[in-house]
Formats: sequence, structure tokens, C-alpha cells
Amino acid sequence: MRRFTPFILGSICLHAGMFALVAFSPEKWLLALAILFANHAAIGVAGLLPRSRLLGPNLVHLPDEAANRAEVALTFDDGPDPEVTPKVLEILGRHGVRATFFCIGERAAAHPEICREIVSSGHEIENHGQRHRNHLAFSGVAGWMREVGEGQKTIEAITGRRPEFYRALAGLRNPFLDPVLQKLGIRLASWTRRGYDTRCSDSEAVLSRLTKGLKAGDILLLHDGHGARSETGDPVVLEVLPRLLSELEKRNLKPVSLGTALRQRHADRARIMMFPDHDWIASRIPHKANMCLLDRVIGWNETQIFCRAKSHRFPDNPLRQEGMLGITTGIEYAAQAMAVHGALLAGNEESPAAGYLTSVRNVRWKRSRLDDLDGEIEVRAERLSGNELNILYSFGVSFGEEMLIEGRASVMLDASSAKLEKNS
Ligand SMILES: [Zn+2]
Repeated sequence: MRRFTPFILGSICLHAGMFALVAFSPEKWLLALAILFANHAAIGVAGLLPRSRLLGPNLVHLPDEAANRAEVALTFDDGPDPEVTPKVLEILGRHGVRATFFCIGERAAAHPEICREIVSSGHEIENHGQRHRNHLAFSGVAGWMREVGEGQKTIEAITGRRPEFYRALAGLRNPFLDPVLQKLGIRLASWTRRGYDTRCSDSEAVLSRLTKGLKAGDILLLHDGHGARSETGDPVVLEVLPRLLSELEKRNLKPVSLGTALRQRHADRARIMMFPDHDWIASRIPHKANMCLLDRVIGWNETQIFCRAKSHRFPDNPLRQEGMLGITTGIEYAAQAMAVHGALLAGNEESPAAGYLTSVRNVRWKRSRLDDLDGEIEVRAERLSGNELNILYSFGVSFGEEMLIEGRASVMLDASSAKLEKNS
């Protein structure tokens, strides 16, 4: 279902109304023409105002959450430029700052290595169109589709990531752009303030345009391509950027990329998921009372998990026998790490399928007990092979550099519950 803004809907109705008027009262054609002319003038003006939202959704500042975190988005247009972009990256890197680069498709294709450097330095590349030509504001749907769609493909082919934002050339657009963006599933992003660093050679003036009235939540527009030069012949942006960054620091504003500002909420959740603590683990693995052995996850990916534990020291550890924690209880620690791994792979929201150890093989150990180790032990499990129901892990429990117990274990997931899930 296509969404139109009230302004566009009103314009469509106005056209229908004027055609009806002329059909019934042909002598009023001049009036109808004048009204339509005024309407088109309004649409034209709406398309010329970069920050207008009359033609469709348009990101002109960051959401409140980002502003509350004192974030300001840094964006650079018209690159990559083989001379300027690497220097911009160096300045950003020196300040530990991430930014968003709206690249032109043709330039990205000419300098893919710079694009890869932008991404590998932690910044984002978004779409500034394939060709960046001025007549775009007169394009129809097909013209916009070529410009924005090809830009998407070019950038994705180089970076492996599909851009989420399109920025219109100088903010210029017309009513045919928004349907194209909806179809491609990307958002229009403009800016709150810009320094006009493409035509102003006075870096003082550029800096003051960017910083005057600057507040949290603003999106700043600079250029690493097509930039003006100062009197000394240096690109203005390279004179402005370091001063802008220290000005932001002085005002306690945090420069970020657009993606960081908009995705922060998800990132917070991902962090919790990345390193679950004891409570998270306890709520997701099958265990008897007081039997959650692991304290936290220190790292994991698709195939491996690393956990830490200190419960081997606890006098009330339920695995103790005759006051001692035998070395083979290390297998129990490893089994819990495997269960946590399954829960993490299943996603934070779902509870994992119930599972149990079916066999343990090739077990080797170097000492007889765990409870006398003074400090945290590390528990590792690595998925070697398996399918939805049966998984083979290798595991190891270590203390510092010392391997305590290691081996292989098969985990059988509960077939009945897995089947039920599949059928529902
Ligand atoms: Zn541009």
C-alpha cells in the first residue's frame, strides 16, 4: 500500500476537481488552469526546500532519544575523493569519531578501495545517487529509480551492505521520488544545518554556519567531494573538521553516524545479548535449584562460546561430593555452556529447546578436583557438527593457561518439542 502525504493527496484531489470543473463548466478553464498552476508552483517549492516534509518522510534531525544522549550526526556528501576522503578518515580516526558518508555511485565504483577503507574504519556508506546530476528534480519515477536504484546496487556490490538512506542532490526532489524510495525500502535523509563548504572558501564562515545555534539531535552536512578550497589551496573541509570536532567536545555533544543515532536502542539490546550475566543464564538453561554454574558469557559466535565461572569455589555447590568438586563435574559446566550457546543462537526472546547430553567421548583431564582453584575458571564449547536435533561439541575447561578437562559431547535436543514447534 503506497502512502501519500496529505499535501500530495490534496494535490491529486485538486487535479481531479479542476478536471471535473472544466468538464461541467468549460468556460472556467482559465480559473482551473490558474489553480493548477499555483498548485504546481507549490509542489515545485516543496521540492526545492531540502528540509520540507510535504512530499514524503524526510529525516531532518535525529530522534529525541539521540538528542537526549547529546548526539549530533556527522555526514559527508559527494565522495569518495582520492585526495580528501582519506584525510577526513584520518582526522575522524584521530578523534575516535564515526560518521556517515553519502557517496556518489560512479565515484564509489571508481575508488572502491576508499569505500572499503571507510567501512573498515567503522563508518557507514549511504546512497547519494549513482550520477549526481542536476536535472534530477525533473525526473519521473523511472529516472529516480535509475539514479537511486543503481546507487544502491553499486554501493552494495562494493561494501556488501545495502544503504538504508538516500540523500537527494542539494536536497532537490519532486513528487516521484517518494514512491521510488518506498519501493526500494530506504529513507530520505536531509540535514539540520550545513556549512556550504562546496562554494565557501572561508573556513571561519563555514564553521560558524555549522556551529551557530547547534544543538543535540542536529544532523550536520559537510562534503568530502566537490569541496571548496581555502586561500592556501587546502580543502576547506580539512580546516573545518578538526575545529568542529573540538567545538563539539567543548559543548559536550557527541558526534556519531546516522546509523548509530537511529539504531542505538537495538545496539543496547545486542550488548545485553552478547554478554549475558548469571541471571540471564539462569533463566534460560535447564537446571535444578542452585545449579546455575556459570557466571557470565565473555564471548560467542555461531560456533563457539566462552564463559566464566567461580561457583567451583562455593561450599554449597550441589555437585560437591564429600566436600570436594571432582574434575568430571567440569563436563557439567561444559554442558551448561552448550545450553547457553543454544539459547543465544535461538535468539534472546525465545526459550531454547530442551536438551540433554547423550554421550561424552575422548575426555582427558590433568588434575583431580576443581574446588581448590583460586580464581575464575573458563568454560569453552565449540560446535563441530550436527543438525537441528543432534549436535556434537568439543569442550574444554581451563584455569589461566592450564587445561583442566577437555573432550567431546553430543547434545540431543528434545525431539518432541522440536517437532511441535515445527508443526505450529
Ligand atoms: Zn551532493
